[in-house]
Amino acid sequence: MDTTTYDVIVIGAGPVGENLADRVIQGGLTAAIVERELVGGECSYWACMPTKALLRSGAALRAARQVPGAREAVTGELDVAAVLRRRDSFASNWQDDGQVSWLESVGIPLYRGQGRISSARVVEVTGTDGTTTTLTARHAVVVATGSGALVPDIEGLRAAAPWTSRETVSAKEIPGRLAIIGGGVVASEMATAFSELGSSVTMLARDGVLHLAEPFVGERVTESLQDKGVSVRIGAEAGSVKRNDDGTVSITLTTGEQIEADELLVAIGRTPNTQDIGLDNIGLKPGAWLKVDDTMRIVGEDGALFDDGWLYAAGDVNRRVLLTHQGKYQARAAGDVIVARAKGETVEDGPWGRHAATADERAVPQVIFTEPEVSSVGLTAANAEAAGLRIRVIDYDLAATAGSSLQAEGYQGHARMIVDEDRKVIVGFTLVGPDVAELVHAATIAIVGEVPLDRLWHAVPAFPTVSEVWLRLLEAYGR
Ligand SMILES: Cc1cc2nc3c(=O)[nH]c(=O)nc-3n(C[C@H](O)[C@H](O)[C@H](O)COP(=O)(O)OP(=O)(O)OC[C@H]3O[C@@H](n4cnc5c(N)ncnc54)[C@H](O)[C@@H]3O)c2cc1C
Repeated sequence: MDTTTYDVIVIGAGPVGENLADRVIQGGLTAAIVERELVGGECSYWACMPTKALLRSGAALRAARQVPGAREAVTGELDVAAVLRRRDSFASNWQDDGQVSWLESVGIPLYRGQGRISSARVVEVTGTDGTTTTLTARHAVVVATGSGALVPDIEGLRAAAPWTSRETVSAKEIPGRLAIIGGGVVASEMATAFSELGSSVTMLARDGVLHLAEPFVGERVTESLQDKGVSVRIGAEAGSVKRNDDGTVSITLTTGEQIEADELLVAIGRTPNTQDIGLDNIGLKPGAWLKVDDTMRIVGEDGALFDDGWLYAAGDVNRRVLLTHQGKYQARAAGDVIVARAKGETVEDGPWGRHAATADERAVPQVIFTEPEVSSVGLTAANAEAAGLRIRVIDYDLAATAGSSLQAEGYQGHARMIVDEDRKVIVGFTLVGPDVAELVHAATIAIVGEVPLDRLWHAVPAFPTVSEVWLRLLEAYGR
């Protein structure tokens, strides 16, 4: 048995764990990282990168077809094999050598195996060969173990071995008929990708399509999915599932209707990877999401600090925001605060302080790569009202900007700005339309900077760009 001591031990080398360990090293402490699968985590191999690679070729083709002159040059269809090859390369062919080299280059030792907390500040790593290494942390242990796909208790579902996001994004072949249980981001993006790659897709969207976003988002994306031939079944709920002898899947809805498919994707949410990380050894509940304060220290339901503050959780596993960029933001704050606490330096954990992940509650940007794209940051009108804010909602047709009419023939899009009337600042912004992904960061800056609307008039958008929507929204709001 080998025992080694570091200042900080990070369990999980996804994007969040990697960034956190790096931040700790940059702060002058030592850190080790534990990983049971691939260094780089879900995002690199089974989530962000491969999904966007699957979607990009279809989006590029669509964009060309929407511009006369370019349209005439596009004579063929998507080359599915080439799309899958590109996806493979964006998933680094499911090899983590590149990321392992990076860990080496920045001086973060990697322990491969399942990490389990055995007692305060102690992590045991069980390697695939069964050997155990005991790591001890001088200052902090960070859980960055991420999340996995949630497979609900539907009769026959587990036995039918459905695809989760992992099997879907790494698929070697495109199924003829793909059924999807779910209507959220993963379900909508995969319905877009697979219908463009040739599957006949049926989406069982019990709660609607993208129902957590502004209502016009779900409406536009549903229309576009239907235009691609996707059967969008809003309100439909799977009652039971059966894998047939010929490999196909039968899904019986709660209404009794039966749907046949060659493959079934279950995309209804995530579950935390905390089942087998030793939480029971320190009096915490295995399988639960880990509640944290704004500096990512574990706290109880009542907000009281766990033990003396040695345990942190960052990224998906704390359920604050299940997005890579936000997890990495938490990692920067947590990595820096661990260093500050270890060195006895001032901790800046008040709102917008350098050690607090304040934006998690107020300004989370998200891009959904459906057709049309969706980008948003901050609150929806419904959320703002539920939070008790006195708001004004300003809507604008994105197609009415000169930039959008140049970008594509038949451009359709919509923008919504939510203004907090008491403070005269923007608290929410949603865009739907072609290529709106790159427009959202301006809104993120306006929200985080709490830029007064009066000052925003001086941020003049260039002509002719789609960003002119900012001016139009201000004009609609009035001075
Ligand atoms: C299909 C899909 C598409 C997505 N697309 C996007 C997107 O476009 N943009 C975006 O921002 N987000 C996207 N996300 C979300 C994003 O993937 C996650 O938010 C992100 O991966 C979380 O990072 P993490 O480091 O917290 O966890 P993970 O990436 O899940 O990494 C956790 C790591 O910990 C390891 N681990 C777990 N338990 C142990 C243990 N006990 N011992 C050792 N190692 C352990 C795991 O093997 C894993 O490598 C998507 C998610 C899905 C499912």
